[in-house]
Amino acid sequence: MKILFATSEAYPLLKTGGLGDVAGALPTALAKGDDDVRIIMPAYPQALNAVEGKRDGPGLGDPLGAGEARLIEARMPGSGVPVWLVDCPALFDRPGNPYVGPDGRDWPDNHLRFAMLSRAAAMLSMPGNASGWTPDVVHANDWQTGLIPAYLHYWGGRRARTVFTVHNLQYQGLFPATVLGELGLPPESYSIEGLEFHGQVSFLKAGLFYSDALTTVSPTYAREIQTSEYGCGMEGLLRLRAGALTGVLNGIDTDDWNPEKDSRIPKPYSATRLAGKTTAKALLQREMGLPEDPGAPLFGMVSRLTSQKGIDFVVEVAPKLVARGAQVAILGSGDKVWEDALRKLAVSSPGVSVSIGYDESLAHRIIAGADIFMMPSRFEPCGLTQMYALRYGTLPLVHHTGGLADTVEDVGGGRGTGFVFNKPESTAVAAAAFRALKLYDDKKAWKETQARAMSRNSGWEMAAQSYKELYTTLVQTRHESP
Ligand code: ADP
Repeated sequence: MKILFATSEAYPLLKTGGLGDVAGALPTALAKGDDDVRIIMPAYPQALNAVEGKRDGPGLGDPLGAGEARLIEARMPGSGVPVWLVDCPALFDRPGNPYVGPDGRDWPDNHLRFAMLSRAAAMLSMPGNASGWTPDVVHANDWQTGLIPAYLHYWGGRRARTVFTVHNLQYQGLFPATVLGELGLPPESYSIEGLEFHGQVSFLKAGLFYSDALTTVSPTYAREIQTSEYGCGMEGLLRLRAGALTGVLNGIDTDDWNPEKDSRIPKPYSATRLAGKTTAKALLQREMGLPEDPGAPLFGMVSRLTSQKGIDFVVEVAPKLVARGAQVAILGSGDKVWEDALRKLAVSSPGVSVSIGYDESLAHRIIAGADIFMMPSRFEPCGLTQMYALRYGTLPLVHHTGGLADTVEDVGGGRGTGFVFNKPESTAVAAAAFRALKLYDDKKAWKETQARAMSRNSGWEMAAQSYKELYTTLVQTRHESP
C-alpha cells in the first residue's frame, strides 16, 4: 500500500512538540513492512538543511497565487523514509518557528502557508499527478493539513482515501471568512456542512468534516472530545462522526529514548543496573545549579509552556515540595506569562531551577536525572513525555485525562507506575506529589515501581498495526467521490 503522510513538522528535521515526534517515528514504523510510505511537509530552511539526498521534483506552479512552488525529493536522516518538501520560498523560506514569527504571533499568512502544504499533498494524491506516484491513502495531521480532504472532496474522482488525525483539538486553524477566496475552495465549502465554524474558516473543521476516517492519539481522548468539556466546540460534529473516529495510542521512538544507549546522558542504565540513573541525577543537579544531594527527591518537567500543561499548578505546589526537602528542575518554552512565572518561581524558591528555552539534549538529561516527572496537564491528547519518563524509570505524576490516563496507572494498591490525580486542582496535584514523596522514602517499593514503569511496552508497533488495518479497510471500501 502507498501512504502519503502529511505534516507540518517532523523530527529530526523540525519539531516543536509531540506532532514532530509522531511524524518522525510513525512513518518509519509503517515503512518497516511492505508499505511505501512518504512524508510531505514544508521546505523550511531547517528541513532543507537536515534532509539527505535532495533532488528536484516536479513543479507545482502557483496554485494559490501565493508564489511558485515545487517539490524537492529527499530522505529522512536516519530512517531513510522518503520525504517531499514543498518548496515555496515566498511562504516557507523564513527562519525560526514554523507557526509564529519572532514577535511570538502567528505568521500573518499562515492560512496560505498551510493551504499550500495541503494543496501540494492533495495534488500528489490525485492519479496521474506529475510525480508519477499516487498514494492509496493520504494521512493528514492536525489543522495545518486539514484542507487536504476538502480539496480532494471537491476535486472528486478516484482519489486517495483520507485519514485525519487530531493531535490536539485546541488548535483549530481559525481564520476570517474573507480568506476563503484565497484557498481555492468553492464558496459552498463555507457552510456548517463544511469548514465554517462560528463565522470563521476552520482548517481543523475541514479535516474533521471531509475526511473518510478520523483518529486521535489515545482512546480516552477519542471519548473525551465528544463531550462539551473537551470538545472545544467541535463535540457535536465529532459525535456525528463517532462511527468514523478511533483512538490509537501513540508509541515512542524506543531507539531515541532508550536509557541503555542514550548518548545524551552521562552513563547508560537499565532497570537492573540503575547506577547510571544516580549519576544522571548528580550531573543534572550540578548542571541546574541545585545542591548535589542524592537523597533529595528531584521533580522534573519538560514542557511547552501553555495553560494546557498546568504550569500554574506547578508554580503553586513547587514551594511546598521544596519545603519538604525536594528539588524541582524545569525546562520549558512558550507563553511569556508562564516563562515569567517560572523565572519568578526560581528566584523565590531556591530549590527550584528553571531553564527557559528549547533544548532536546537537556530534555533527555532531565527525564533521566529526575526521580518524578510532573505532567499535570488539564487535558492531554496523548502525551509522549510521560512515556519517555516511564522508560527512564522516572515516575510520572499525571492528571487522569486523555493519553495520561491510558499510559499511567496509579501506584495505589501496590501496582501501577505513577501518581495519578483526578481533579485538575493544585490541592490534588500537591496530594499526589506528597504521595510520591512518601513512596520515595520506601526504597524497595520505589525500585519495584521503577522496574514496572521501565518494562512497559511503548514502541510504535501496535499503533502502526492499527493504522495499517484502518488504511486497509478504507482502501477496501473505496468508492468514487463521497
Ligand atoms: P505536546 O505535543 O503537547 O507538546 P508531548 O508530551 O506529546 O506534548 O510532546 C512534547 C515533545 O516535545 C516531547 O518530545 C518533549 O520532550 C518535547 N519538548 C517540549 N518542550 C521542550 C523543551 N522546552 N525542550 C526540549 N524538548 C521539549
